[in-house]
Amino acid sequence: MKLERSRALFERAQRKIPGGVNSPVRAWKGVGGTPLFIARGEGAYVWDADGNRYVDFVASWGPLILGHAHPKVVATVREMAARGTTFGAPTEAEIELAEEACARMPCMEKLRLVSSGTEAAMSAVRLARAFTGRTKIVKFDGCYHGHADGLLARAGSGVATLALPDSPGVPPAFAAETAVVPFNDVDAVAAVLRELQGAVAAVIVEPVCGNMGVIPPVPGFLSGLRELTEKAGAGLIFDEVITGFRVDCGGAQERYQVKPDLVCLGKILGGGLPLGAFGGKAAIMDCVAPAGPVYQAGTLSGNPLAVGAGRATLAELSRETYHKLETAGAELQQGLEAILARYNTPGAVNRVGSMLTLFFGVERVRNAAEARQADRERFARFFHGMLERGIYWPPSPFEAAFLSVAHGRGEVGKALDAFDDWAKNEAKNEAMG
Ligand SMILES: *Cc1c(COP(=O)(O)O)cnc(C)c1O
Repeated sequence: MKLERSRALFERAQRKIPGGVNSPVRAWKGVGGTPLFIARGEGAYVWDADGNRYVDFVASWGPLILGHAHPKVVATVREMAARGTTFGAPTEAEIELAEEACARMPCMEKLRLVSSGTEAAMSAVRLARAFTGRTKIVKFDGCYHGHADGLLARAGSGVATLALPDSPGVPPAFAAETAVVPFNDVDAVAAVLRELQGAVAAVIVEPVCGNMGVIPPVPGFLSGLRELTEKAGAGLIFDEVITGFRVDCGGAQERYQVKPDLVCLGKILGGGLPLGAFGGKAAIMDCVAPAGPVYQAGTLSGNPLAVGAGRATLAELSRETYHKLETAGAELQQGLEAILARYNTPGAVNRVGSMLTLFFGVERVRNAAEARQADRERFARFFHGMLERGIYWPPSPFEAAFLSVAHGRGEVGKALDAFDDWAKNEAKNEAMG
């Protein structure tokens, strides 16, 4: 496989861009090697700068549920662009997207458009604090809510650890407003709410975790959070930046039938362009300026191109789409599991609908502590083995692989053939020591 152009581009990029990338995971630190520079995408495929073609399971980390360059999305963006790319004034298309998104998501009566998931989570947290008059936030170890200061905290071990910042530059005082508890542990949440009685503004959660690999909520977890927050007078925020319009028409809140007070959206909402949103009950959302006093703004918020791409994307997503994605996801999961078993490779596949993670060396993964047990070295070999066989899998053991509607039997089959061939080799190499 020729990769010369990607290598040259990566060297050149590093001279002007820190680490050569504009978002850390793109640098392949988790698997080693030189990241592919992508030249174009179509449907389920991407082509790198050297002209190699791959089946793409990254899907830009979630937004591309229709695959690359979907004709209707491209046509809409072209049409919108020709009429002007931004006005800094309201447009009719924003209302239509807001109406459409609210109609799909059970908890949303109103929403505000922003330009990223980070902004959505940051703003939802500010709003929850203003609405409750409290400052503490409870989040879960391994859940990612963008890179706003107070949310860049996970935990040491144990229950209710007050968090240390994950990054230099985050004042410890900010991170100290955030308590971190294990995912899927309702008792830990109950304990921290008791401990911080009357101080917790909100519990924020990825209802299906996608940022320590895919981890489904155990039965009773989300409904338990709903009950506990209600009792504590705290808000419940679902960060559905990945799961919104991904795991069901109405996101995880529909799939698991639990209604949060606020929801954060991004990724699919913008159909591959920069767009996010936060929304919820009207009584809470009406605290946002200019309806209320909670300040929140954006020069490019509700950008016409992003709104157009989002509307075109939602228009293609019907109940039937999710049945199709479920079928393809199940096929991929069962295929991967069969191959793991065939070659006695220890591992577990976690999946919800069309998002999936293959963890090596562990039997099951229900939280961050278990995810961290996964065999990263084997994953790195797997990643490069798949790449050599034409499959572009997420370059990190703690990310979700995504299917799009463009991933048919053929593409799933290619991934399984590649995995079988790699696993056979891996088993042979192991046997030889
Ligand atoms: C991607 C992601 C974010 C951040 O969104 P950006 O658009 O990258 O800022 C927030 N929350 C979750 C759950 C995400 O997956």
